[in-house]
Amino acid sequence: MASLPDMTEMQIRRYARHIVLAEVGGMGQARLIAAKVLVVGAGGLGAPLLQYLAAAGIGTLGVIDDDKVDLSNLQRQVIHRTTDIGTAKVESARRALSDINPEVRVVMHPRRLEPGNAPQIINGYDVVADGSDNFATRYLVNEVCYRLHKTLVSAAILRFDGQISTYKAWQGAGHPCLACIFPSAPSEDAVPSCAQAGVLGSLAGTLGALQATEVVKEILGVGRSLSGRLLLYDALAATFETISVDKQPDCPVCGNRAGQA
Ligand SMILES: [Zn+2]
Repeated sequence: MASLPDMTEMQIRRYARHIVLAEVGGMGQARLIAAKVLVVGAGGLGAPLLQYLAAAGIGTLGVIDDDKVDLSNLQRQVIHRTTDIGTAKVESARRALSDINPEVRVVMHPRRLEPGNAPQIINGYDVVADGSDNFATRYLVNEVCYRLHKTLVSAAILRFDGQISTYKAWQGAGHPCLACIFPSAPSEDAVPSCAQAGVLGSLAGTLGALQATEVVKEILGVGRSLSGRLLLYDALAATFETISVDKQPDCPVCGNRAGQA
């Protein structure tokens, strides 16, 4: 990591509740300020995630989304306002984040993440948080993060259920990737989208906030990582469950035969 920046009086006041935490302190806060995080999707998960990361003082926040704000987004994508309808989500998000914390450098990527541009975009960041709404993007982000040795915090939500895990499969044994747990993406017909099946608005808040927490923990190197575990939240039952997940030797992304196709 680059040399740690000195903090100004204003920064010390802004981040006082972090700095007083033994697990963060001045050095930890300086690490957050020096960190570069890419958030994939400025939607339901991205909304709380981006706002908490900006408030935490993450120095560089990348936002990738090719969509515009739609009326039907506002039920859960609380970073956007009614007056933002029709505006690019990255621009709407940038305005909201600048209001929360003008010290954060927001980098807008108003495009869809694709195999052709993903490595170049992702390479500029330390940690990636995926809140995208489709399997193709989720698997692409997993594969590129594995190849570039980037820590990935990935979450998904549908109806009243959410799940989240952290992936750093390049660290070897005990660290599965997303494809170890879900070897192949289900067909788009097999699993309905949020548009078809619905999603509880506040569920996005719960899972997006959990993602922000795990991103901050990975940057600080504190607590227990979610790598190797999958956290499941059932909002109707009001239960959290954490299950262990294993690395698969025949995983198409991080397994022994990966890349031999
Ligand atoms: Zn794998």
